[in-house]
Amino acid sequence: MNGKVIPTGEALVSAMEPIYLGIFEGIKAYVEGDVLSEGKLNVFGWKQHVDRLFRSAEVDGLAMPYSKEELMRAVKDTIKANGYKRNTYIQPRVWPKAGRQEDSHVVVPTWGFETLLGRDNPLFGEERRFMVSSWRRLSSDALPPQAKSWANYANSALARREAVRCGYDNAVFLDRRGFVSESTGACLMTVRDGKVITPPVTASILESVTRGCFIEFIPDLGAPVEVRDITRVELYASDEAFLCGTGGECTPITSVDDIKFGDQYPGPITTKIAEYYSDILAGNVAKYRHWLTPV
Ligand code: PMP
Repeated sequence: MNGKVIPTGEALVSAMEPIYLGIFEGIKAYVEGDVLSEGKLNVFGWKQHVDRLFRSAEVDGLAMPYSKEELMRAVKDTIKANGYKRNTYIQPRVWPKAGRQEDSHVVVPTWGFETLLGRDNPLFGEERRFMVSSWRRLSSDALPPQAKSWANYANSALARREAVRCGYDNAVFLDRRGFVSESTGACLMTVRDGKVITPPVTASILESVTRGCFIEFIPDLGAPVEVRDITRVELYASDEAFLCGTGGECTPITSVDDIKFGDQYPGPITTKIAEYYSDILAGNVAKYRHWLTPV
């Protein structure tokens, strides 16, 4: 925090700090070789994440007191100090100091997480029932969804709470035009007739690092990717649907509004993508090793 490795219990600020005006990143480091084992860690998509962090700061007018290299050092030092040998989540946070907008607090918390990827992981095939939210995704003429600011998550929390209240696991947002946007904390991809389809950046989505990587690697599996608007009915008519994101990894979705996708769950293309992604994260695909930064 602010340049020092300290115990989490000592990472304290005043309750008067405007943390709600802050921005953050969600990044993961995975175990080399097999994401379900223990060992050496590599950070996935560091360059894309740190670039987005700086872009978010710029959009929201926040000062960034550290360089990208200093932040990487902080990530490595924090992971080393914790002695992590399993998959680790990293969430750099930046917010303006109370009464001193020209300076920011920067903290880099890290913690372990359970992946749903990896061979025979039982979490992968769990049922996940989604609904189309009655809340629309916030749009760039009000709050830019492309900046990863805490404020945007108030919109996500409304949709998620509504979904849980209605007996669902999570929600899919439509954008203000009525086209499919994203979920509450991850982007959405659908499969129709062997093609993977995902909404464009102009559909009020976060410019997801994972989505960018998926668009690049999915054609290796023989499935073309189309980036275009998806209507609500087209979503219902999909053969498969899944989330993609740092947190969401590659999460299969069973149904939306109780309309089930295809006749196999998880879908065959979703499963192939998740297996390939898991290999990429573990550093087993030479072509994409440049997405990994050793800790
Ligand atoms: N959309 C939203 C709203 C998110 O919170 C996230 C998670 N950061 C994503 C998409 C996925 O983005 P990324 O792949 O960069 O994690």
